[in-house]
Amino acid sequence: MSHQAKPCGQSPATGGPCDCQEAYEHLLEYLDSTLNSTSADRIRAHIESCESCSSDAITSEIVRKLLRRCCIEQAPSELRVRIVQRLRIIDEA
Ligand SMILES: [Zn+2]
Repeated sequence: MSHQAKPCGQSPATGGPCDCQEAYEHLLEYLDSTLNSTSADRIRAHIESCESCSSDAITSEIVRKLLRRCCIEQAPSELRVRIVQRLRIIDEA
């Protein structure tokens, strides 16, 4: 099975390649499977090819599961972003 390292993909919306900023902005939506398949493919392709975004994805996935476990089905996205940002700071420290 050949895994080709493909570029992050072209954005139909912006015309530019998917970058870390875009991947990060859509990470929670991606994990929640609320993105359309085109966007999800772009984010997934970026995460798979980008080490820092893939570690963010893992961190966010952990947060998501923790929130679920705490019976917070619909945590405000602002809160979740804040938690992820806090974890990023810890991770980078
Ligand atoms: Zn990235």
